[in-house]
Amino acid sequence: MIDPGLSRLCIHTITNKPWAIETAIEEYARAGIGGITVWRDALDGRGPAVVGKRIRDAGLAVVSLCRGGFFASANPVARSEAIRENLSVILQAHELGAPLVVLVCGADPAQPLEDSRAQILEGVSAIAGEAARLGVRLAIEPLHPMYADSRSAINTLEQANDMCDLIDIPEVGVAIDVYHLFWDPHLARQIERCGAAKRIFAFHVSDWLTPTRDLLNDRGIMGDGCIPIRAIREQVARAGFNGQTEVEIFSTSLWATDQRPYLDRIIDAYRHHV
Ligand code: ZN
Repeated sequence: MIDPGLSRLCIHTITNKPWAIETAIEEYARAGIGGITVWRDALDGRGPAVVGKRIRDAGLAVVSLCRGGFFASANPVARSEAIRENLSVILQAHELGAPLVVLVCGADPAQPLEDSRAQILEGVSAIAGEAARLGVRLAIEPLHPMYADSRSAINTLEQANDMCDLIDIPEVGVAIDVYHLFWDPHLARQIERCGAAKRIFAFHVSDWLTPTRDLLNDRGIMGDGCIPIRAIREQVARAGFNGQTEVEIFSTSLWATDQRPYLDRIIDAYRHHV
């Protein structure tokens, strides 16, 4: 039976990584889930327009394409390549029918974080016009500081807000991911600031496990860790976000399990903890 309560739930394809995107679409639609976020790897060997049509025909919304970014590098050639690559991601999102590209902004351990941040500002500014022209929004996603070495020099929502203020284009906003931001004592205030600027474009959930055994691939199902997910979701809602809540769980151990009962657990956790 389709549960109308799941229309606000979106699942990121990386969550069920063992499934080909065709299987994920079928399973999410069967469960009555409202939306899907597409990891670019899931499109390998497929036409984005074909996949986009298949998603919409199944009754799902395409929430975003994940991910662009990685603008920071001490090497200027790599920075130019990153901008070219991001323009092709924006085109891919446009063809897929995704209204949003999530940006993991990048960092290079060979240079100071301030340099990486300046390059990120330059990179996002360089692609924002083309994104706006194609009707694709860009969300800067701050990452937990444990990734500040090589994945993102944007580690707090305050930094993301500051960068959006500098870029000052309505198509550039933020993705709020509880996994990356729950520790920040200024989070509630910065969520309010996002709300005032109407720039919350995405909301991602998973949970923080203790101990965390792997920096990349040991996220938990909502309710299995220590993040006050519902409280943060309510802050985000009060700040005006009314889009779908996106489940994004990178987990080697959960990928090794049978994906169908795992999806049922995700749905149950969404109902009880989000
Ligand atoms: Zn995320």
